[in-house]
Amino acid sequence: MKKLTCDICHKDITTEVNGRGYFHMANIDICEDCHDRMEVELKPVVRTKQPFNYEWYERLMRDSLTKAVSRGRW
Ligand SMILES: [Zn+2]
Repeated sequence: MKKLTCDICHKDITTEVNGRGYFHMANIDICEDCHDRMEVELKPVVRTKQPFNYEWYERLMRDSLTKAVSRGRW
């Protein structure tokens, strides 16, 4: 069995809890905590973007994730 580790906080990821607790985005494995944190970080930025553009959001998400991974935290 493959052991999953969050690419941002390096915590072990448990997938047993309701199949949640793990997200794979932009080739990055992230735990639920970091995923929640990402939504908190991006929400105010997303609000300033009118009209909403999904491609823009995807790029923003990927950039934020890459930065968080290199910092080792949000
Ligand atoms: Zn994490």
